[in-house]
Amino acid sequence: MRALFLFALFVTLAATACSGRAEDRGTQSTSPRTAPASSESTSTPGAVAREATPPVGGGPTGSASGPAEHDGARAMSHLRKLADEPRVSGTAAEQRGAEYIAEQLRAYGYTVEVMAFDFDTDPFRAGEVRVEGASIEAVTLAGSPGGKVRASSIYVGLADEVGIGGRDLGGRVAVADRGTLNFGAKYENVKAAGAIGLVVVNNRPGWFSGNLTTGATIPVVGVTQEEGRALVEAAKDGREVEIDAPPTAGPTGALNVIARAAAGARCTVLVGGHFDTVPSAPGANDNASGVANTLELARALAADGLDEGLCFAAFGAEESGLNGSKALVADLKSRGALPAYMVNLDVTGIGGQVEVIGTGPASQLALRLAKEAGIEAVPSRLPPNSGSDHQSFADAGVETVYFTSGDFSTIHSPEDVAAAIDQAMLDRIGDSALLTVKALLEEVAAG
Ligand SMILES: [Zn+2]
Repeated sequence: MRALFLFALFVTLAATACSGRAEDRGTQSTSPRTAPASSESTSTPGAVAREATPPVGGGPTGSASGPAEHDGARAMSHLRKLADEPRVSGTAAEQRGAEYIAEQLRAYGYTVEVMAFDFDTDPFRAGEVRVEGASIEAVTLAGSPGGKVRASSIYVGLADEVGIGGRDLGGRVAVADRGTLNFGAKYENVKAAGAIGLVVVNNRPGWFSGNLTTGATIPVVGVTQEEGRALVEAAKDGREVEIDAPPTAGPTGALNVIARAAAGARCTVLVGGHFDTVPSAPGANDNASGVANTLELARALAADGLDEGLCFAAFGAEESGLNGSKALVADLKSRGALPAYMVNLDVTGIGGQVEVIGTGPASQLALRLAKEAGIEAVPSRLPPNSGSDHQSFADAGVETVYFTSGDFSTIHSPEDVAAAIDQAMLDRIGDSALLTVKALLEEVAAG
């Protein structure tokens, strides 16, 4: 059961093909990307280790064989290789994924850097709430300390002024509803009124994970709406509730793989996507598809010689909060070497049309070029509470274009397998991205 719960927890928590950015910094289960709250609790730029290796076959002349155009079948073969196992950050499977990606890029003539960084696994902590012996599965909010508290409980509504209603919560466990205020504000309010623990009940079906964004001193956990109903009734009666929140696991190592035309070359256009997955999901669509397209673009663009300023990246630890892209952005920023453009590929294997997420001229350019090439492409936006690695670059002022195929229905599940991928869709995304990358390189070259 616990194993089943942890599997379900990881699957749903990481439903954000990438991190939550909504007002309450919580992540709901249906959105396409990944991982819980993306804020500041993650990678530490200082902890970066590098290993740059020259291309196979020595010269920078590019030894990528095949046509200088995107080939869906080649992308599909990368996808099958990558999606033969879940690639959770910090695990051996992630290491195997990174080695495969680095090997391909070296073979195309790029100088490859495998960048190790630390990230905080905090968002994936399974906790427990007990009400008179009955056990309820819980998620520990990022920023909450570990710890066990047991006391009579009290229902505080949204944990705002109205909900608390000036009552003294001294020595009690507060039970609040999710919504309106962010988790940090709810915590501050009940803490100020004397509470020794806080349980937040989801205001939609399923799990959520959230971030207190500030370090807390009392345990704060979240429970599903379904199991929260009985808890709210118990709190309205002041019945005894126990919170059991495990301690943080602390920093864990993960990897980024970065390819440049030459060692130390400055990136002006960076193309990439995350290669990690949530536990128990092979991650064919999320996001072996984006990495496979990145590799095939790297090959196609190297086939006629390496392009100065063009870089490719496969990011680790995206599912736990965009950690890989944040670590790379922090590193590039510290060296005054941020790119002019970032092209993000995440969830590019299933869907009806090419979706372009981004509001800048580069996104308009992508839509125009796809149209001119007869590829159906539409402007789009991410579902609420979700994000992806382009955000780490956009937050640093880099213009981004994010290509996705838009169908997130099976991500973060054991059903996200290579057999479900639509190669024609994968190909359309690759073709559109190739047109865009070429045009951005010309633009940069034109100065
Ligand atoms: Zn993703």
